[in-house]
Amino acid sequence: MTTVAFLGLGAIGTPMARHLAQKTQGLRVWNRTAAKAAAFAAEFGVTHAASPAAAARGADVVITCFPVSGDVEALLDGPDGLLAGLASGATLVDCTSGDPATSQRIAARLAERGVAFIDAPVSGGVAGAEKGELTIMVGGDAATLARVRPVLEAFGKKIVHCGGLGAGDAVKAVNNALLALHLWSAAEGLAALRKAGVDPAVALDVINTSSGRSNASMNLFPERVLTRAFPRTFRLALLDKDVGIAAQVAREQKVPAPMLQLTADLFRAAHLAMGEEADHVEVVKWVEQLTGVTIASPA
Ligand code: NDP
Repeated sequence: MTTVAFLGLGAIGTPMARHLAQKTQGLRVWNRTAAKAAAFAAEFGVTHAASPAAAARGADVVITCFPVSGDVEALLDGPDGLLAGLASGATLVDCTSGDPATSQRIAARLAERGVAFIDAPVSGGVAGAEKGELTIMVGGDAATLARVRPVLEAFGKKIVHCGGLGAGDAVKAVNNALLALHLWSAAEGLAALRKAGVDPAVALDVINTSSGRSNASMNLFPERVLTRAFPRTFRLALLDKDVGIAAQVAREQKVPAPMLQLTADLFRAAHLAMGEEADHVEVVKWVEQLTGVTIASPA
């Protein structure tokens, strides 16, 4: 029997942990705000660990899902830290959308203790996590992934080995940079069309059977922008972080990437203007302010 610990019961971590609670035995959960972990443990009959060390102690697989890799690194040390609990032979699976350099540093620290590490960010959003149908992109040793794959299948449908340590982080960052770019450029285009007298719903109807379509045009604009619903599922602050990582990867690889850099700068500005709790799709409201156009059908 594989014992699993899950740390980080945020918007996406919670539904991931829910699948683990239902599909594995003896799950332990830890969260910085202890009340969330206590409520989760009570609801699903799993163990609420008092510290990262307590969660990791005796666990074969420890899964983390925090905003940034630095949050994982900061939890390694000290008497309550992960390293105090992780045993040789255990594996840390980091589902944070992290950055390759920090993941590589964490892996090196763990390797000194005989603990394996893979970076394993996810995509599919909160809805995909709720269905247990996330895509998981993995960097690290293929044999380590093979060992933990049955655990990841509790919440992942498509699990892809992308390459060495940090490759999962890099793929995730580029994917999300494309999401950001599509969101922003669709907002600009639809604002221009609205001002030119075209109903955005009509424009999207055309675009979505034409070559300009994207997840933004097919799902996010119809469901969240035209309806003005803007549900909060994935914070703009996190998308800003992801685009920044993609631009950083390009710089490190000495690949000229002006579009990634521009997108990173635009999302940093929007994040600073809109705050920590705004949803990523609310960046469209920022474009609306810049253009003076609301992207909605005429009344
Ligand atoms: P949230 O902001 O909803 O939750 C973050 C979680 O991390 C909370 O449990 C929070 O604890 C905890 N946390 C934050 N800072 C620290 C810290 N310094 N030390 C310890 N714990 C901390 O984020 P999400 O769940 O949305 O995202 C988590 C990761 O998954 C991110 O890397 C994100 O980019 C990625 N992701 C998110 C998706 C989504 O749709 N939401 C989709 C795909 C990937 P507390 O409860 O105390 O605040």
